[in-house]
Amino acid sequence: MKIAVVGIGVAGAYLMNRLSDDHDNRIVGFERTPQNQHDAVCAWATCENVMAGLSKNCGLDFDSYVLHDGKHMRVDLGEKGGVDIRLKGMVSYDKLRLIQDMIRGTEIRFGRAPRKEELEPDFDIIIDATGFHRNYLPRIENEMWIPCVQYKVRYAAGKEPFDDFYLRSFPSMSGYFWYFPLGNGYAHIGAGDFMKKHNSFVDEFLKRHECEVMKKVGRPVRLTPPASCEPFTDGRKSVGVGESIGTVYPLLGEGIIPSTWCAELFVRHMHDLQAYRQAVIERFRIYSLVFRFIQLKISGKFSLAKHGMEMLKLYRHMKSEEDRYGMQVKMSDMLKVSMN
Ligand SMILES: Cc1cc2nc3c(=O)[nH]c(=O)nc-3n(C[C@H](O)[C@H](O)[C@H](O)COP(=O)(O)OP(=O)(O)OC[C@H]3O[C@@H](n4cnc5c(N)ncnc54)[C@H](O)[C@@H]3O)c2cc1C
Repeated sequence: MKIAVVGIGVAGAYLMNRLSDDHDNRIVGFERTPQNQHDAVCAWATCENVMAGLSKNCGLDFDSYVLHDGKHMRVDLGEKGGVDIRLKGMVSYDKLRLIQDMIRGTEIRFGRAPRKEELEPDFDIIIDATGFHRNYLPRIENEMWIPCVQYKVRYAAGKEPFDDFYLRSFPSMSGYFWYFPLGNGYAHIGAGDFMKKHNSFVDEFLKRHECEVMKKVGRPVRLTPPASCEPFTDGRKSVGVGESIGTVYPLLGEGIIPSTWCAELFVRHMHDLQAYRQAVIERFRIYSLVFRFIQLKISGKFSLAKHGMEMLKLYRHMKSEEDRYGMQVKMSDMLKVSMN
């Protein structure tokens, strides 16, 4: 089978690695950025308990990519105080190097963003792993995304503002500011805000804490969950994998693990796209509930009396999967953050 993988982010890189194992397939990757500018636009935080297994599927040892092993995360609520969350596997890692190692030895055409019509005559399947762009699939009606900005910075020794993960939650959970250490004085600092105050918050932080700016990036993150990102195919040869079909945990804007999981579901079901669709809907079912919770919060319509059961379900889900989220989950913390 001839397969085109368009977009070499986490999902595309994982697919290139896993699909290339089958020598009956010919896999060609396409990435719009030139090879020397290929980047992984993201804050690089994830949970090593899950990524260890996914990396192992690709013959790689996740431990060797870890940059900072988190112990605690402060969630700052401004005048309302904050909460300290004990971490159980949350790390920052060299996401770009892991992607580069996943695609080693595979055939990728960098600096190419081919039109679907160019690929259709030559390939049996075209995988849309273009993330937020979703270039090869029908547009989604009324979708929700959050604009983000991020800087990679370096602090002089002893001048780092924090020594571990730090978040500042914005009112009504419209977004948050993040500071994620990358080791050796480096950090990703950035923010996403539905109310579009992210740039001013980050600018102020940069003024307050002297640092060297290495790089600035920005792009939106899709929050609409898979169940509302259908169709996953264009009815011809294209099929979506990863953030292109909404695999981002909406409460955290966390897409590395869900998008890699989605790629693994594709590997398992690539010969039966109905089964792939069903597996994606099943795996990410809870994301629709979480998305509704976020929508209610942002629109100011959330009421504990009315929507308490939904919040309880969300809490139970995260509590039962502490190892997956890489943090201790407490009801008191969740209540405090969500009442902000
Ligand atoms: C600022 C920011 C910080 C984030 N931080 C985190 C975090 O710390 N932890 C976490 O889990 N998630 C985070 N996320 C979300 C996470 O990065 C994404 O959800 C995840 O990377 C999605 O993976 P993907 O492979 O589906 O898409 P992407 O990683 O977006 O990859 C898509 C690739 O496709 C390429 N491309 C796009 N269009 C075309 C085209 N037409 N032709 C060819 N190539 C194309 C792009 O250049 C890119 O390389 C963050 C997102 C942002 C924006």
